[in-house]
Amino acid sequence: MIENTVKNNKEVILCKYGEVVLKGANRSDFEKKMLKELRLRAKRIGNYDIFYSQSTIYIEPTDEDAADRIDEMYWHAKHVFGFVGVTRAYTCKKDMAEICEIVRTLMPEKLKGYKTFKVEAKRSDKRFPLTSPQISQEVGGVVLSCVRGIKVDVHNPEVILRVEIREKEAFIHAGQERGAGGIPYGSSGRGLLLLSGGIDSPVAGYMMAKRGVQIEAIHFESFPYTSERAKEKVLELAKILTDYTLRIRVHVVSLTKIQELIRDNCDEDYFTLLLRRYMMAISVKLAHQYDCEAIITGESLGQVASQTMKAINVTNVLSDIPIYRPLIGMDKEEIIAISRKIGAYETSVLPFEDCCTVFTPRHPRTRPELETVLLEENKLDFDALVDEALQTRQIVVVRHFGDNKEESLD
Ligand code: ATP
Ligand code: MG
Repeated sequence: MIENTVKNNKEVILCKYGEVVLKGANRSDFEKKMLKELRLRAKRIGNYDIFYSQSTIYIEPTDEDAADRIDEMYWHAKHVFGFVGVTRAYTCKKDMAEICEIVRTLMPEKLKGYKTFKVEAKRSDKRFPLTSPQISQEVGGVVLSCVRGIKVDVHNPEVILRVEIREKEAFIHAGQERGAGGIPYGSSGRGLLLLSGGIDSPVAGYMMAKRGVQIEAIHFESFPYTSERAKEKVLELAKILTDYTLRIRVHVVSLTKIQELIRDNCDEDYFTLLLRRYMMAISVKLAHQYDCEAIITGESLGQVASQTMKAINVTNVLSDIPIYRPLIGMDKEEIIAISRKIGAYETSVLPFEDCCTVFTPRHPRTRPELETVLLEENKLDFDALVDEALQTRQIVVVRHFGDNKEESLD
């Protein structure tokens, strides 16, 4: 009898968005983007009805297959930017006996390990025979009778069990998890991420994606000084970012010729700075071509010789669009914590060489003067080499669902 009742109760996902970012004219745009993002993901998983009402987006399976794959859908809901909280809820008829039955049979699992709780009831259907305090009291009684050791604390509970009497059905849920936060992906325009195989740049990309920036990525390789495997690692990092972005186009540009020319013609102390200026100039050109309104790097002040204020300025002056450096004031430990959170760390620390680590100077300049750098730079035809490097570009579209796809040059 009990099992039957439980079986007939659907489990749904509730995604709550923060009020703060959703004020004014942006609100409906943001809602539409979040719905679209969830629907894109749902399409790959099963049949779900996805709709919004009262600062919440509801995801309801419409058949048994979708109900069986709700864990996957829940994972996706937690990776969509714009939601502050995500919860799994049970639905049932708006009937006190059914509600209490669900609480008795399904909630002990959700409330396990908590010492204190309170029930919050909300009634949008005012015809429901009990008032909100009456619902809370009755449901609270059921919890106390079936969850061992738990106590009521109305002021500072560890967990809140919510009962919502909505238009069509009742929702029961507890233990909301944090959502991905931020604002909807793509709501801030597009940015070009300089993606290396390290720890920092994937984190920088994640942070800007979280603030709504659609990520286009550029990676510089130096084959055969850097290996095919090093490139694969970068594509793997892009793939990890697609947990949040679904797809990322990665432009792979070869710096081999430029690096060899620098090695053969320029003062060793300036190798890295010169290389970084080429990287920046190439990136700026590509950013314009792909309508990117900003360039994004994983630089952090003082982390290495090429990231002192003076060294950063040597590359900064080349760009006529803003350069976002979301990690500029962060310590490595703080960056690593985020890297672990997004699941990139293990891949980032795999030991493969980067183009910045081939031909590295023994005594890199940490306080370079732009004029001296330019003297070295003018030994080569900078503009021509930038254009030539862009010709080597390969485009790989990295997708969350499905394999990578090569795209031809436009
Ligand atoms: P990361 O962990 O991101 O590699 P890092 O501390 O190793 O950073 P650098 O190698 O000096 O720092 O690079 C600083 C930034 O320049 C990187 O965060 C990245 O944005 C960009 N960058 C470095 N190497 C490459 C590359 N091969 N391709 C694209 N961008 C790069
Ligand atoms: Mg690096």
